[in-house]
Amino acid sequence: MISEKSKQQIIDTARVEDIVGDFVTLKRRGANLQGLCPFHNEKTPSFNVNPARNIYKCFGCGEGGDPISFLMNYEQLSFPDALRYIAKKYGIEIEETAISAEAMQEKQLVDSLYIITEYAKNYYQKQLFDTDAGKSVGLSYFKSRGFREETIRKWGLGITPAKKDGFTKAATDAGYNLELLRQLGLTNKYDSDFFRERVMFTIRNLSGKIIAFAGRTLSKDKKTPKYINSPETDIYVKNKALFGIHFAKKTVRSEDECIMVEGYTDVISLHQAGIENVVASSGTSLTVGQINLIKRYTPNMKILYDGDAAGIKAALRGLDLVLEQDMNVKVVLLPDGEDPDSYLRKSGTAEFKKYIAEQAKDFIFFKTDLLLDEAGNDPVKKAALVQDIVGSIARIPDQIKRSFYTKECARVMDLPEKMLTEEVAKAVHAVLQQRKKEAEREERRRQNLRQNPAHQSQSPPSFTGSFPSAPFSDGFPTEEPFPGEGEMPPYPDAPGGDMPGVSQPTTVRGDTFQEKDIARILVCGGGKTLEKDGKVTVAQFILQEIQDVLDNFDHPLYAKVAKETLQLLVDKKEVNDDFFLRHKDEEIQQFAVNCYSPTYGTMSPGWYEKFEIILNTQKVPEENFKKDSEEGLKRFKLKKVIKMCADNQQRMKELDKGEVKKLIKLLKVQEKLLSMRNALAEELGTVVL
Ligand SMILES: [Zn+2]
Repeated sequence: MISEKSKQQIIDTARVEDIVGDFVTLKRRGANLQGLCPFHNEKTPSFNVNPARNIYKCFGCGEGGDPISFLMNYEQLSFPDALRYIAKKYGIEIEETAISAEAMQEKQLVDSLYIITEYAKNYYQKQLFDTDAGKSVGLSYFKSRGFREETIRKWGLGITPAKKDGFTKAATDAGYNLELLRQLGLTNKYDSDFFRERVMFTIRNLSGKIIAFAGRTLSKDKKTPKYINSPETDIYVKNKALFGIHFAKKTVRSEDECIMVEGYTDVISLHQAGIENVVASSGTSLTVGQINLIKRYTPNMKILYDGDAAGIKAALRGLDLVLEQDMNVKVVLLPDGEDPDSYLRKSGTAEFKKYIAEQAKDFIFFKTDLLLDEAGNDPVKKAALVQDIVGSIARIPDQIKRSFYTKECARVMDLPEKMLTEEVAKAVHAVLQQRKKEAEREERRRQNLRQNPAHQSQSPPSFTGSFPSAPFSDGFPTEEPFPGEGEMPPYPDAPGGDMPGVSQPTTVRGDTFQEKDIARILVCGGGKTLEKDGKVTVAQFILQEIQDVLDNFDHPLYAKVAKETLQLLVDKKEVNDDFFLRHKDEEIQQFAVNCYSPTYGTMSPGWYEKFEIILNTQKVPEENFKKDSEEGLKRFKLKKVIKMCADNQQRMKELDKGEVKKLIKLLKVQEKLLSMRNALAEELGTVVL
């Protein structure tokens, strides 16, 4: 393992312009450097390298980070390998430290498993090329599919012999551990081969290591399963594996699209024909884990289907999951009787590409059409269809997308838009309720863990430090326990417009803008001191004010940033931008990089939500942290207070007639909230009627 000292030395030495410059031609532009983005296709450069901050950022596709994350993202290196790359480049000698026996054992186990899978692939391949049976049966099968020899070698295709323990015997003779062969599922408990008389496909992980195999029988016997796969092991987690992802990832990124097919041979055929952004879900229906794998490279998926309507309908059911992950899903139906492989061979690459581009249909519309066809004039079927579509639309997290689909589907199904909108709203509510329940269950589980002394180390950090008094000593009315406090819905909407006397000023709209603002201030200026006394830092000042509501953040990322900052304070560590720019949580790191991008700028509060305008011309207020943090905090508080007002209002509405005492109590709370709201609004110069 690389020692902490070497790690630090490497990190300190790495210059972003050198590392990126190894792969991208950069031209100087002012203080920065610019080039064509290696992560997406572009003709005019939008890829920026900032030597002063030691970061890069693409304004086209959003990719960004530090020298190490560049190597990890572009070259797909692991963290230690990225460090080794840099060390080699700068001639830094790496000091290795011994790792714990346990960690060593685990690492050795995983390494041994990879060594065995590599051996197995070579063995199966040797059988294919060097034995008579391999040549006559296996090679002729692959060649009949049109695979060239280089393709067969690249994809690690092979064949297993008829002998019942041919592989196991060869492997143990070569010194491989029988127990590990069993663990990988290559050898069964009777010490015979698991894969027999099958042509073999090699399944790799993202970085190209072999994690499993799939074997296809060539027997005509109907009782023999066509495909069998390796079992789950320490290195093969089925719902996180995608066949072809290692070879596809680069093109998926540059084409900004991932094509999903069903079969291994489809993936290989398309790839060989130059369509390289293709993967298959290797024997499972699509899972969240697999979607997240794709999502690292693109939000756009195109799924190719062959087969009959019934089969497709079944397949479509799984796709709501993809919608939920906020992916853009399109579906392409291949011509009757064709699978991707056969159609590609018939049509040729150019024609095939044209077909899938032209025929791609948005998933929801595809599903609507399919179900409409099926329902015909049957009113019962049609009602079920509406519910089905509504259920799919409700899964889309983005509200604007949702209303677009609602409108279009209403038109296609010939239904009043208003009705469909109401149905979708109901379904969204149901989805939120369900998520809320899940969140509550999760919370209960966590609380149980906390109460269980065996898990005490997992309890969250508590903040005990004391700060000099800050300008906002009134804080939140926490001394007044709210009835039903803590039952706030996890996804609160903006405060309702029915609150008497409150219009919604544009500066307080948008669900998470204020939280983002707070997070940005913490990242960019958390370590600066406030002018007032030069002792209190911005982070201390802000966190003292908001630590009570950290769990009420609407956006998990911004909550994470705030909590990470709090942890720094608890640990008495310095809050600096490096901490965030080099954070191992990719989301936080991305956010930090974005905070420093010139385009983030200082748009006026609310402009972004209202007009989606980002101002390029304004300067980042680098040295204006005091004002920035005070105002950001006020905006944040105002937003929360307005929400609390609305919640309180709702509670009053829900009271029964006789509950006068409770009503008076709530009225007092309301009064206090309103005066806080007005004070904050006044300070911010926001109009609250
Ligand atoms: Zn880019």
